[in-house]
Amino acid sequence: MRKRILIVGGGYVGLYTALRLQRKLRGPLKRGEVEITVVDPQGYMTYQPFLPEAAAGNLEPRHVIVPLRRVLRHCKIINGHVTSIEHARKSATVEIAAGEAWPVDYDLLVLAVGSVSRTLPIPGLAEHGIGFKTIEESIQLRNQVLGLLDRAASTRDPEECRRCLTFVFVGGGFAGVEALAELQDMAQDYLKWLPALNARPRWVLVEATDRILPEVGPELGVYTVEQLRQQEIEVLLNTRLNSAVGGRIELSDGKVFEAATLVWTAGVKPHPLINATDLPKDDKGRLKATVNLTVEGHPDAFTAGDNAAVPDLTTEGAYTAPNAQHAVRQARCLADNVLATLRGHELRPYKHAYVGSVASLGLYRGVAQLYGVKVRGLPAWFIHRTYHLTRLPTLNRKARVLGDWTFALFFRRQFVALGSMRDPYREFDIATGRRAQPSAADTRARASS
Ligand SMILES: Cc1cc2nc3c(=O)[nH]c(=O)nc-3n(C[C@H](O)[C@H](O)[C@H](O)COP(=O)(O)OP(=O)(O)OC[C@H]3O[C@@H](n4cnc5c(N)ncnc54)[C@H](O)[C@@H]3O)c2cc1C
Repeated sequence: MRKRILIVGGGYVGLYTALRLQRKLRGPLKRGEVEITVVDPQGYMTYQPFLPEAAAGNLEPRHVIVPLRRVLRHCKIINGHVTSIEHARKSATVEIAAGEAWPVDYDLLVLAVGSVSRTLPIPGLAEHGIGFKTIEESIQLRNQVLGLLDRAASTRDPEECRRCLTFVFVGGGFAGVEALAELQDMAQDYLKWLPALNARPRWVLVEATDRILPEVGPELGVYTVEQLRQQEIEVLLNTRLNSAVGGRIELSDGKVFEAATLVWTAGVKPHPLINATDLPKDDKGRLKATVNLTVEGHPDAFTAGDNAAVPDLTTEGAYTAPNAQHAVRQARCLADNVLATLRGHELRPYKHAYVGSVASLGLYRGVAQLYGVKVRGLPAWFIHRTYHLTRLPTLNRKARVLGDWTFALFFRRQFVALGSMRDPYREFDIATGRRAQPSAADTRARASS
């Protein structure tokens, strides 16, 4: 009888699992003995470590995503949200659009929906903040930063100028530090083209603990703080965001100021879909995984990545960290265990000792800790780029990214703020009279929202 494998989520774990299964099950897939279905609301996998470079315009955004239909030719792709899973009946509900939802039945389940931003009930955060996990957010931030620099150079109101030029990032992990450093680097470059601007942009990193980038260790964390401060970035440690109502930032150290941009990168939590399943979760909302990457008590359900609590066999009592390094390796092990289940073989446990981390701090600057060796500056930045290039799925994407970097050696990056992307119907609505010409107040609200 045909075995139906359902993969929920086409990110790191989902894509790498599907690619491996597609390769190893070529014959059974052709003969119709196996069917692999991948469900993801987006038609692509996002290579998240390159999002900061995409935001800064060093990489074309389309080059850091991998189209699922193109690389998973022997799998069935459904673009929709899985809204619930009843594993007791081996059935998932997929919502394609409002009002259209249907069940997808399966024999083996791979649940890999990753994580979402971990937010706090801070007044004004939901209205004024933006996350940094998706390609859409990175494109929006690029447009917003360039648009606000343009506006600051045009306004005659010094308060509005200051507001436009104030960029606040909350959370000193990978995403926050890299996004801030890359965008600040881009803004510095753009200032050369804004001679009319006689104020300096203000970049603020707010971190609740006493260190940033814990992934690279305390010594490189301190170095990173020094580097960022040298780049005119205010790094506020042991500080929390208390309020952002109306774009007015209030911090726990008493500072109060207006900022048009608030980026929230203060950690992640498991995707809420995990709660809409009948599978076992831990107190952090993660699926309870076994060392073989099956879900506890369910040999026909597999999980890995950011949404799973996977025991770390290299450190007693610990769980693997939510990062790409584990996600990619777990996907390989998970796919092999799916194959072993189909063939009635023994499953193998997942074991990987963390190699270290690399982070970029803008063009030609970085930090890296690999196998305990600490690297900083240009060599670390070079390692960062080389490592991620080798990890990027498919030769096609690798070639495109390499092409972008090569072009950037000879041509300056482009500084065009395509802010109207958020409202592409505007011009035609004005032309047809459906909308009045927007006032400056409307434009301001849009750019800072
Ligand atoms: C800006 C940034 C930089 C990073 N840099 C690094 C780095 O340098 N090194 C490192 O090791 N890690 C890094 N990470 C972390 C790394 O990207 C994650 O750990 C990794 O993506 C986790 O893989 P995953 O498969 O669990 O989740 P994801 O890759 O997030 O995939 C989840 C997938 O599930 C899909 N999905 C969501 N909801 C549903 C639904 N209801 N139904 C179906 N599908 C759904 C999503 O669309 C997505 O495609 C970074 C993360 C970010 C945000």
